[in-house]
Amino acid sequence: MTGNGNIPFLDLVTPHLELEEELVSVFRSALKTAGFVGGPMVEDFERDFAQFCGVQYCVGGGSGTDALRFALIAAGVQAGDTVVTVPNTFIATTEAISQAGARPDFVDIHERTYTMDPEKLRSYLETQCTPSLATGRVVSKRTGSPVTAVIPVHLYGQLADMDPILDLAAQYNLIVIEDACQAHGAEYFSKKEDRWRKAGSLGRAAAFSFYPGKNLGACGEAGAVTTNDRALAERVRMLRDHGQVRKYHHDIEGYNGRLDAIQGGVLRVKLRHLAEWNEQRRECARGYDALFADTEGAVILPHVPSWSRPVYHLYVVRVADRERLQKDLSAAGIATGIHYPIPLHLATAYKTLGFRPGDFPVAEQAASQVLSLPMFPKLSPEQQQRVVTHVALSAKANDQRIYVPDRHAGESRRTRCGLLDP
Ligand SMILES: *Cc1c(COP(=O)(O)O)cnc(C)c1O
Repeated sequence: MTGNGNIPFLDLVTPHLELEEELVSVFRSALKTAGFVGGPMVEDFERDFAQFCGVQYCVGGGSGTDALRFALIAAGVQAGDTVVTVPNTFIATTEAISQAGARPDFVDIHERTYTMDPEKLRSYLETQCTPSLATGRVVSKRTGSPVTAVIPVHLYGQLADMDPILDLAAQYNLIVIEDACQAHGAEYFSKKEDRWRKAGSLGRAAAFSFYPGKNLGACGEAGAVTTNDRALAERVRMLRDHGQVRKYHHDIEGYNGRLDAIQGGVLRVKLRHLAEWNEQRRECARGYDALFADTEGAVILPHVPSWSRPVYHLYVVRVADRERLQKDLSAAGIATGIHYPIPLHLATAYKTLGFRPGDFPVAEQAASQVLSLPMFPKLSPEQQQRVVTHVALSAKANDQRIYVPDRHAGESRRTRCGLLDP
């Protein structure tokens, strides 16, 4: 923690120092066997994480990007397919689609949750695709290829609205791969099943990232696929290890995408604290919510529908003049982030896909207005108070109306009471 009163965006040092002895002993035991890649430390973590997510199988990998790519390939996505996701995600989501040989396509997000809008997915499938009798699937008019899979992204630690997405996927024969890279432990209330379900247990498979800054982070790069599909889990095991089931017996071409033993051991130690850390993040979010309630709606707060128990990977507010607020906070020593400034359909990397500004207006407007405030388990009430004070000061100095986007004026408080469930 910084001693000068500055507030960092996240604090990766404190939790690791608190666990220093345990983490160092992981390294020591790896040295004793020199089993640095795969092995029992990885298998133990896989078992524990599968249990945490409420699934039968977890297969560790080198990163969240690996996990997404392996999940897509193992689920049967093929070269030339089209895979649908949202524009406001980290580029790893669409990289994995392209690297599996498929073409990314997008549907817009829900205005308040920032996750895939099931109605937009429906209208995409109904109006922008044509049924193909040969495959039993629909063909995208834009890409001219069959739409075989959909990747809802559980952004900022909150699940996408999965019930209607799963219904549409069943109706249109789509594979559902969850991008759960920001949602370790987040929950969704499935009306169909009348119970809460964990991120990573709802699709055919899910991908997690254990990049250090995630809610569960390794001391390096790591990721995992979770699934209840035994055959799919076996294929991911092969893909991560050069397509071999036994050493030098390569049934298919695969990748070098295994999980290090040390990272497996580190993750297993840290997993024991994840529920507590997530609860502390929720407490911080409640603190922010309560403090912002007294600021006359200076900003639009995160919206939590009744079916969602988020884990606040990020606490994201929305303002009309994001750049000005970010500058004012920075001048006050408060670090913030933007997730993400450029929606992927407008990224230079995807120029050749031929999208234009205006294609996904909800995602585009969100991209220009979202600001991620400091959020980590040990963020103190005093630090939260300082953040909120400076947001309110900035709003006042710059004329409140500049801050709350017109259409949302007055909403930020009400939404906390659940009156605006989508
Ligand atoms: C972090 C992240 C990824 C990629 O994970 P890596 O471990 O960095 O490869 C993918 N999708 C989302 C939404 C992420 O936040």
